[in-house]
Amino acid sequence: MQEFLDTSIAFLPGVGPKRAELLGKELNIVTYRDLLYYFPYKYIDRTKFYKISELDPDLPLVQIKGFIKGYYTEGHGQGKRLVADFHDETGIIKLVWFRGAKWITGSYPPGVEFIVFGKPGVFNGIINMIHPEIEEAAKAEQRISSALQAQYSTTEKLKNQFVTSKTISRLIGNLLKKIKFRIPETLPPYIVSEYHLMDLHDTLFKVHFPASPAEMEKARYRLKFEELFYIQLNLLRFKTNRSLKNKGFVFSSVGDNFNNFYYNNLPFSLTDAQKRVMKEIRKDLGSGRQMNRLLQGDVGSGKTLVALMSMLIAIDNGYQACLMAPTEILASQHFQTISKLVEGLGIQVNLLTGSSGRSLRKTIDETLRDSSLHILIGTHALIEENVKFKNLGLVIIDEQHRFGVAQRARLWEKNLNPPHVLVMTATPIPRTLAMTLYGDLDVSVIDELPPGRVPIKTMHFSDSERNKVYGFIRNQIDEGRQIFIVYPLIQESEKMDYKNLQDGWDTISRVFPAPKYCISIVHGKMSPAEKETSMRLFKEGYAHILVATTVIEVGVDIPNATVMVIESAERFGLSQLHQLRGRVGRGASQSYCILMSSDKISKEAARRLEVMISTNDGFEIAETDLQLRGPGDIEGTLQSGIPFDLKIANLGRDGQVIEYVRRIAEGILEKDPLLEEERNYVLKSEMKRLFSVKQSWSNIG
Ligand code: ADP
Ligand code: MG
Repeated sequence: MQEFLDTSIAFLPGVGPKRAELLGKELNIVTYRDLLYYFPYKYIDRTKFYKISELDPDLPLVQIKGFIKGYYTEGHGQGKRLVADFHDETGIIKLVWFRGAKWITGSYPPGVEFIVFGKPGVFNGIINMIHPEIEEAAKAEQRISSALQAQYSTTEKLKNQFVTSKTISRLIGNLLKKIKFRIPETLPPYIVSEYHLMDLHDTLFKVHFPASPAEMEKARYRLKFEELFYIQLNLLRFKTNRSLKNKGFVFSSVGDNFNNFYYNNLPFSLTDAQKRVMKEIRKDLGSGRQMNRLLQGDVGSGKTLVALMSMLIAIDNGYQACLMAPTEILASQHFQTISKLVEGLGIQVNLLTGSSGRSLRKTIDETLRDSSLHILIGTHALIEENVKFKNLGLVIIDEQHRFGVAQRARLWEKNLNPPHVLVMTATPIPRTLAMTLYGDLDVSVIDELPPGRVPIKTMHFSDSERNKVYGFIRNQIDEGRQIFIVYPLIQESEKMDYKNLQDGWDTISRVFPAPKYCISIVHGKMSPAEKETSMRLFKEGYAHILVATTVIEVGVDIPNATVMVIESAERFGLSQLHQLRGRVGRGASQSYCILMSSDKISKEAARRLEVMISTNDGFEIAETDLQLRGPGDIEGTLQSGIPFDLKIANLGRDGQVIEYVRRIAEGILEKDPLLEEERNYVLKSEMKRLFSVKQSWSNIG
């Protein structure tokens, strides 16, 4: 039976070698199984008929019943078309064909009742349908078919070869007719019955040809359940395997370094959220299992402190620690902050980036080997170069979405025993999405900002109100504050972006002329040393305004900067806007985020800006973002842990199912961690089939 499903679709009636090749290329449909698992993207209710008087061009595909009055042609040359007036008792529309006139007039004579199916459009104020599907009403009523007609997506190339949604539906029908056996279950029977799922055989028939909406829902639910269930089972199994395999260093004690810091150097008291997260981390570090934890916390929530205290625990137990950041600016900022925080504690900290000189590298190398260096901070130079620790016990990765999964793996491939891993991110990820994207990590959340922060005020101005904004900036500078002005950087048109930035800088320099004002600039084309100089000018308060591209997106901490102006804000995604806004509001005074846009923007862009104005809550913004654009982009940037495309489930919309199946998967692994029980045999073999792609990322954080 399995062999049957592995048969090439070339053997299916109606396919043949040429179509088979095309289907493989265009839709990845190669075998019977692929075709069976090519699910409709929507269904059209063919029991519903519209009256012609109800039609308007905003409707999707609709069905009407009536008579053709007569044919005539309109237009010339390319625009020449066959037109039929089609009427029911409520009105009249035009049916339009640009091809096949002879065949149409021969097949659909006036006076016969037809069912016409198509998308209403409008031309010269009259409703029309271009190339509709037509069927004789009497015949359609005899035809045994499901009420809901499945619609399949196809491609331009397929359509040109006459493979339409309807063709695919017919091919699937042909395949189902050939299936003379029960399609074997891919879930254990006890799961199917316990969770009241439709069995697989029925599911695969009904998802393509449902008799009712209820049946369709039930079939789709079963398929979503299964798809998401296996993803969760897979993720959770990594987690289980890892904790069985990786011993993890035991950091049993909290010693002098931590205590001295906590009681003497800590400049403020921890927030409750920071305390809770520290407890969670300490528990991991002492457990004898390797920590793989994700720390989520909105911008400014104080993750750096948590990182430092975790590193101090590592040092207290005789280990070294490293902290990796995505950019040189951030790495050197961490280096400065942390060096200052541990002043007087006898802890050695150093910084390694791509632009570190040879003698510094030599020192780092030596002090790492003789273990006199306790904390090494850096960029990906930490993993790209031949950096050898004597005893690396803890790795902290800040803003990991900038790091590829593979890069993370290289961090400790040289170590026999993998160090503990803490991944920090300020990108708020909706809970259910995180369950999949980081499904094999434990999650801690800092859901509280340090006290005394004044919420940022966000405003939107269009280009025509620019002078107002400059006036506002001038006042803020007079009050001693500093200003960020950010321009979008979109890779595809780097040159143009760069020009925008230059033009912007020219304008700003004219409006805020030297010597009264000092303006600093940072962008991706500058060398690290140049960037460093510009940043320092701003950081140390000499520059009033920092003009930048999004290189300043993450982590930069300049409490005196109170205004974030985002140019062409309509071009940014929500999460990026939120990240940028997080650069201000770090001190005690009122901060502002000013969203600049052109006078006319799209509805969706307007909605994004509205959301920014209405809330400062990163998670709320992330949820909206997920609804507005779906999880696609987010998955892309975060490198999801799913080795295949989802066929039916949607990470954005099926959050509840994700939570549900995750609990079920957890329950199963708790009782049978290696899936060795007889009744779980199906799970094991399905996992093997689904996840046979090499998963070297299985043992990384
Ligand atoms: P992020 O989570 O974005 O990395 P940071 O660690 O950079 O945030 O912290 C932002 C600012 O808040 C820093 O200036 C830091 O010193 C300050 N901070 C952190 N924790 C506290 C606290 N418990 N009380 C007061 N200020 C804090
Ligand atoms: Mg940070």
